Amino acid sequence: MFCPDGTYAQVVPALSIPWRAAPTPAPRLCILNEGLAVELGLDPAALRTPDGVALLTGAVPASVPTTAQVYAGHQFGGFSPRLGDGRALLLGELIDTSGRRRDLHLKGSGRTPYARGGDGWAVLGPMLREYLIGEAMHALGIPSTRALSVVSTGQKVMRERWLPGAVLCRVADSHLRVGTFQYAATTGDPQVLRALADYAIARHYPEVAESDAEPGSPGNRYLAFLSRVIDAQARLVAGWMQVGFVHGVMNTDNMTISGQTIDYGPCAFLDGYHPSTVFSSIDHGGRYAYGNQPAAAQWNLARLAETLLPLIDERPDAAVEAATAALHRFADIYLSAYQSGMAAKLGIPPDHPDLPRLVEDLLSVMADQRVDYPGFFRALAAGTARALFGDPTPYDAWSARRDQVLTATGAETAVVTAAMNRVNPVYIPRNHHVEAALNAAVEGDLRPVERLVEAVSRPYDERPGLEDLAAPPPAGTPPCVTFCGT
Ligand code: AMP
Ligand code: MG
Repeated sequence: MFCPDGTYAQVVPALSIPWRAAPTPAPRLCILNEGLAVELGLDPAALRTPDGVALLTGAVPASVPTTAQVYAGHQFGGFSPRLGDGRALLLGELIDTSGRRRDLHLKGSGRTPYARGGDGWAVLGPMLREYLIGEAMHALGIPSTRALSVVSTGQKVMRERWLPGAVLCRVADSHLRVGTFQYAATTGDPQVLRALADYAIARHYPEVAESDAEPGSPGNRYLAFLSRVIDAQARLVAGWMQVGFVHGVMNTDNMTISGQTIDYGPCAFLDGYHPSTVFSSIDHGGRYAYGNQPAAAQWNLARLAETLLPLIDERPDAAVEAATAALHRFADIYLSAYQSGMAAKLGIPPDHPDLPRLVEDLLSVMADQRVDYPGFFRALAAGTARALFGDPTPYDAWSARRDQVLTATGAETAVVTAAMNRVNPVYIPRNHHVEAALNAAVEGDLRPVERLVEAVSRPYDERPGLEDLAAPPPAGTPPCVTFCGT
C-alpha cells in the first residue's frame, strides 16, 4: 500500500541523512484527512487499521528509506547555519492520483541529529492546530501544505505542563525552503548548490529547466528560477493579506520554494483589523506583524537570491544587478495580486482607477475602529456593514464613494452580492474557537475540532447550526496570544 520513493535523497544526498522515527507506544488516530488520503492514492480504511496508524507515525517497512533534511535559516533576522528536521522526518515522496509528486512528512517523530536542544516531540494541541489551519487555507484557495493525520502517541510531553504527545503527517509539494538553499550555499560546494537548484527546478518550475545553465548566459536558468519563486511568494503573501492571515514566524526556514504556506506555529487570523497586529508571544518587535508580511517575504527572497548569485553570473556585480532587478519585481506582482483580490472582495472591477484609494481608505477607517476583518466583507455584501462601526460617519463617506463606483459600472446588486459571497469566507478559524476546540481535544473531546474543520473546509457556504463559528469574539475577549507551536 505504501511504496514511496526518495528522489531528493538520491539527487542531493548531502542535504539529508537516513533516519528512523522513534517507536510510538500507544498510537491512536485522532483525525484523518480522508479526502487528502484518496487524492494521494491511499485507502482511508486501511489507514484506520492498526498497521495504517502505525505507518502514520513512521513505523514503515525497513525498505522505505526515511530521512531527516538539513537546512539553515534566518530566525528573526539572525542566521543559524544549521537547523534542519529536529523532530521531523521525510517518509518519502508519492505520486498522487493527478500525477503530482508530494512529500509525506512527519512532525513529532523523535529527535534527529538536527534536534539541537529539542526533545524531538510534538504535542496534540499544536498538531491539531496545524491540521485545522492548513485545511482552512487550502479551502480558501491559498497554497498550503496540508495534514493527512494527527495520531496521539500515548506519551506525555513536558511543555508548560505535561501534555499529550502527537505525530502529524503532513503533505507538501516539497519541503525545500529558502533555508535549504542557505545551507547548500554554506557547504561551499558549488555542485551541491547546483544540484539542489536543478532539483527544485525539475520539481516545481520545470518550464525553466530548458534555459541555459551557464552563469551569465542570457535567460539564465537560475535567474528564471529565482523569478518564479519571487512570483509564487508574492502571490502567496497577497493571499494571506486578503484573508487576514498572520503567519507569525516568517523565518527563512519557514518559507518554501514551491510557494506553499508551511509551518503553522503561532499563526492566527485577524479579528479586529490593524496592520500592527502580532499574535506570537515571541515576536516582541513585531517583525512579523500582519502589515510587515510583504516586506518580510521580500527580505527572505533577497536571502534566497544571495545564495543563487554564483549560478546566475560569475561576475559578482552582474549577478547582483540581475538578482536585484528580479527582486524589485516583487512589489508589482504583490500589489497587482493583492489589489485584484481586494477588488473581488469589495465587488469593484479590478481595473477601476479608484480601487487603490478605496482599499487604502477603507483599511484606514477599519484600523481606527478595529473593525472585525473577516466579518466586514460579508456584511458589506449583505448591506449591514455600517453596524460594525462604533462611529459610522467615516464609513458612510467611504460607502458613498463605493456606491458611486458601483452605479457607474451598472452592475446589478444581486450579481455583485453573489460574486462577493463567493470570495469572502463566512468561516475562518477564529482564534477564540480554535483555542476552545484545542483545549477540548487535549481533554479528550475531538468533536469541537471536527466541527471547526467541517466549517472551515467549506468557508463560503453559510450553513444553519454553525452561526457561532462565524461570529467575532464576544466583547471583552482578551487579545489572542499564540505560542510557537511546539
Ligand atoms: P519551527 O519554529 O517549528 O519552524 O522550528 C525551528 C527549528 O527547531 C526546526 O529546525 C525544528 O526542527 C526545530 N525544533 C522545534 N521544536 C523542536 C523539538 N521539540 N525538538 C527538536 N527540534 C525542534
Ligand atoms: Mg519550521
